[in-house]
Amino acid sequence: REEKERLGVKDDLKLTLNAVKVLEARYLLKDEEGKIIETPDQMFRRVANHVGVIDALYDYANFQKKGTVREDGKKISNLLNTQIEVLERGFNELVNDGVLKGTFGQFMDFIYTKPTIAEDTIEKFHKMMKSLEYVPNSPTMMNAGARLGQLSACFVLPVGDSIEEIFEAVKQTAEIHKSGGGTGFSFSRLRNKDDIVGSTKGVASGPVSFMKIFDTTTEVIKQGGKRRGANMGILRYDHPDIMEFITSKDSENTILKNFNISVGMEDEFFEKLDSDGYVDLKNPKTGKVVSRIKARTMWDSIITHAWKTADPGLIFLDEINRANPVKNIADIEATNPCGEQPLMPYESCNLGSINLAKFVKEDNTIDWDRLRETVHMSTRFLDNVVDANNFPVRQIKEMTRKTRKIGLGIMGFADMLIMLGVPYDSEEALKIAENVMSFLDLESHKESQNLAIERGVFPGWYGSEYEKEDILMRNSTTTTIAPTGTISIIAGCSSSIEPLFAIAFMRHVLNGQELIEVNPLFEEIMKKRNLYSEKLMQDVATTGNLSKIDLPEDLKRLFKTAHEIDPEWHVLMQATFQKYCDSGVSKTINLPNDATPEDIGKAYRLAKDLHCKGITVYRDRSKTEQVLYSGTSG
Ligand code: UDP
Repeated sequence: REEKERLGVKDDLKLTLNAVKVLEARYLLKDEEGKIIETPDQMFRRVANHVGVIDALYDYANFQKKGTVREDGKKISNLLNTQIEVLERGFNELVNDGVLKGTFGQFMDFIYTKPTIAEDTIEKFHKMMKSLEYVPNSPTMMNAGARLGQLSACFVLPVGDSIEEIFEAVKQTAEIHKSGGGTGFSFSRLRNKDDIVGSTKGVASGPVSFMKIFDTTTEVIKQGGKRRGANMGILRYDHPDIMEFITSKDSENTILKNFNISVGMEDEFFEKLDSDGYVDLKNPKTGKVVSRIKARTMWDSIITHAWKTADPGLIFLDEINRANPVKNIADIEATNPCGEQPLMPYESCNLGSINLAKFVKEDNTIDWDRLRETVHMSTRFLDNVVDANNFPVRQIKEMTRKTRKIGLGIMGFADMLIMLGVPYDSEEALKIAENVMSFLDLESHKESQNLAIERGVFPGWYGSEYEKEDILMRNSTTTTIAPTGTISIIAGCSSSIEPLFAIAFMRHVLNGQELIEVNPLFEEIMKKRNLYSEKLMQDVATTGNLSKIDLPEDLKRLFKTAHEIDPEWHVLMQATFQKYCDSGVSKTINLPNDATPEDIGKAYRLAKDLHCKGITVYRDRSKTEQVLYSGTSG
């Protein structure tokens, strides 16, 4: 408690110390002097106020169209100035889109005199966030009701093959990073190195050299921005500069530090790989074949470098585009930085995740009814964010409002499995994954269909796959599994669908002291079974896992950590979630330090064969900078 107060945070939600530290650094609003002016509960209230109030706009649209008001609603008694700002922006956009007509003043008269469900929605949103059952992505918490008002985590920007277009994209990247969003790019349109530049008759420097400019921009913005910006760089397998791209993150004083890189693969590559054939590398401008390379040679280079540095990953463009529901608008060429969100050029997506640990009942079963309710509420929340959002770039606003992509996902999956007594690397865990994710996908689609009836289909619906199947939808996608890197710390649960990273570890605190931090579920179970001792916790903290600890086998199996789980199980888990997920699944395929490049090749190939949308691996200690180490011995 003392530590929390020292940080200037009045913790009214009984969060963990780590959660409070994270909130203090970037999330809780501060005054001019940098003093924190809200509590964690007030932060969630601020978010609920700004996202929930959007419901009033759609109640007004129905009033204009049908003359009906919400019988189940009530009159709004009071609005904050910042809520009025959000409503005014949303109102003007909906007038532009032809959904509303008249003046903002008329709308204000409506909400002060007629019942709407906005207040009720605000209460529900607030409740599910403060109970940590649902948490939106970081930018929503940082910026809702605050000056920036940019609420999304994921963006993809097009990079055209001209100096003007490249630097336009650099500028847009800066705008996005300032607000805490991450950007993905396909560099495949840029002409290859040494190709002729028409206007100057000089030679082009190629995609990798331009990526460095984006990297430096990110580095500089980082200082003043909301958080470290992140990038995904993608190059197609048939671009002439592909081999330079694959090796671009090699150097010790790493260039492209702020980039994850992935090779954009198509099925053709794997056919060539299997038949020991050659890939034609083509000039992106003219389509002419510049050279050829053996598919096997490229593959070997990919897996050796992924072994060395964790980059490049792969993204499977054909798989992604087979699942693209709005093929009528554009093809997908890139994803956001962590790979879970494929997007069209200029599209953005806002994410939010349900904490599964909160949905296990006392009798150790899943509370499906409450989960259903939360899925519906959070889907509505994410749809509202599209209207509450203050987009940093005009084209992004237009594209995002056209497809209304949202990404509902989960976190606390490993916690849930432990509470249910099921080991992560088991058939039973895959079955639970399948049940949970198919339920989430189905129910969020149902809510999107309800919203389509209440608010209309997304504008790009006409001509989409949904129209062909005659399914009304408010959003072109509803589910994405995000890494939940920060929001799982805030919620105090295991991240995303990952297994536990460590059971216990030493945390260095001020004045040279060390504190042992033990996973709360482990501590609880050990106490229940009379196995708890300080000495044991100390021992566990030195290695991070239970492999060398004298404990009953069932506990060692239940608490297996990420590095002890066979890579194949990691891929199987990713593929199982992917089956029921509209967008992509964030998953780190952890490999032990002694894994070989062939092991990485096997994991990459398995991901392709199991219809994943992409894959990244991480071999323990393969990067000089690693955020988390399991145990203190390494
Ligand atoms: N992201 C980013 N910078 C970061 C972390 C995340 O730009 O430092 C973006 C990126 O697009 C990533 C997405 O946010 O894919 C979701 O990441 P995560 O779920 O870890 O974010 P959280 O909401 O937990 O902060």
